Amino acid sequence: MDPKCRLCGRFDETIDHLVSGCPELAKTEYIHYHKMAAAHMHWKICKEFGIEVKEQWYEHEPKATGPFHQVETLFAFQSPWFGLGC
Ligand SMILES: [Zn+2]
Repeated sequence: MDPKCRLCGRFDETIDHLVSGCPELAKTEYIHYHKMAAAHMHWKICKEFGIEVKEQWYEHEPKATGPFHQVETLFAFQSPWFGLGC
């Protein structure tokens, strides 16, 4: 059995490779995971400050910036990990 990654074919298909090291997954899946994690944190922060949010975190759609009451929220679209706007 070939140990190389079935997506990129360049590295061994280990758990570490699939979770964070595959150049093919970096183009789409890792960015998606990053956005979902950031949206969850933004949702939690909004809830903590009493800002109205949807019931479920995965329904939350952060705006780039938003002044609410005494709190200014900022949702970052720059990823330090990928160097891409996301
Ligand atoms: Zn790969």
